[in-house]
Amino acid sequence: MIYTIIGSMVIIISLAYIYYKPSAKVTKNIFNAEYYRGLNYLLNNEEDKAFKIFTALMDVDSSTIETHLALGGLYRKRGEFDKAILIHQNLLSRPTLEAELKNQALYELSKDFHSAGLYDRSEKIFRNLSEIKSYRQSCLEHLLKIYEVTKDWEKAIELVKSMDTITDNEKTLALLAQYYCEISSIYNKDNQIEKAIAISKKALKTNKNCIRANYQLAKYYSKNDIGISVQYYHSIIHQNKDFSKYIINKIIHTAKKIQNNNIILKTLMSISEIKEMPFIPDIYFFILYEKDKETAMKYINTFDRTDLVNNFVITHTLASTEDQTGLNGVIHDLVNSYKNIFSSNFYFICNNCGYKSNELNWKCPSCNTWETIVPKSAVDIIEEGKHSE
Ligand SMILES: [Zn+2]
Repeated sequence: MIYTIIGSMVIIISLAYIYYKPSAKVTKNIFNAEYYRGLNYLLNNEEDKAFKIFTALMDVDSSTIETHLALGGLYRKRGEFDKAILIHQNLLSRPTLEAELKNQALYELSKDFHSAGLYDRSEKIFRNLSEIKSYRQSCLEHLLKIYEVTKDWEKAIELVKSMDTITDNEKTLALLAQYYCEISSIYNKDNQIEKAIAISKKALKTNKNCIRANYQLAKYYSKNDIGISVQYYHSIIHQNKDFSKYIINKIIHTAKKIQNNNIILKTLMSISEIKEMPFIPDIYFFILYEKDKETAMKYINTFDRTDLVNNFVITHTLASTEDQTGLNGVIHDLVNSYKNIFSSNFYFICNNCGYKSNELNWKCPSCNTWETIVPKSAVDIIEEGKHSE
């Protein structure tokens, strides 16, 4: 482990040196005895001593500035923010530092502050540097990360709107929609439902593919207008079929709140007609209990029983509606274990990094991307196994 770290440090320093090397003159100066002594300390894991030498070297030899920029970055990567900040502040204290190097040192210092959680100080520097064209894009990206971490959605929105890419970039618009959804969710928690609805609609207008906006609207309307609520749920299934089982579960849950189930029945029937929709037990049961066995069987007969997974799910679904009193112990256990598979438990898995959790996050806590997490039932997992064979 130690050797890997040392190895990578040597490589990074060497590469950084080659990368930052501004002129041939530096080559002569930089490889002096002190520099080697410092490197030696670093190799022997005596970073404090190495740090002292490199700092001293920086004072006497202006050609080592680039190496120190790299060293500072290295300390930051290792989580030693104090040292990184010290190195970069030290660089900035030099009165003769030329403008480009000063900007570079400021940029690095701002990244140190960001990593150390000193967001105010980081934000200030990134804001100033973003005025310089060559720093603009990366500074704006850092600033967005700061506003996301500090949940300063108003500032995040203002920033995204100021970006040059805003008009034609789907990714930027998708991000903007997420920020509107965040604000909507704050209004909702504060019981300001009308404001929450208005801003979720704005999110959907900004990005018509925003699943979260539809989901929020479905939830808000479920309190007083089931018809509209169900329409928003319905839209989600058209946006992404991975959500169908989860959303159907929500629709049926909504149905329990009202007397007239016709609207739900109509919605479920129309969902079942969507192309390539798999057999969903919840739809069968709803039709069976809310309408009649004949219509429920019609639903089943629309499926190709040579499809193994569909056939497996259908067979089980039919078996579980039959009287189980005559079954012996083993079969009874089997039926019950199937019941667990078909229960409405969902896992939430990130399509981007594979992060798995028990709740639906709109921003992946692991890879920090928005709306990459989808609900999966146990049957979905069986199905994926089938396709990967
Ligand atoms: Zn992820």
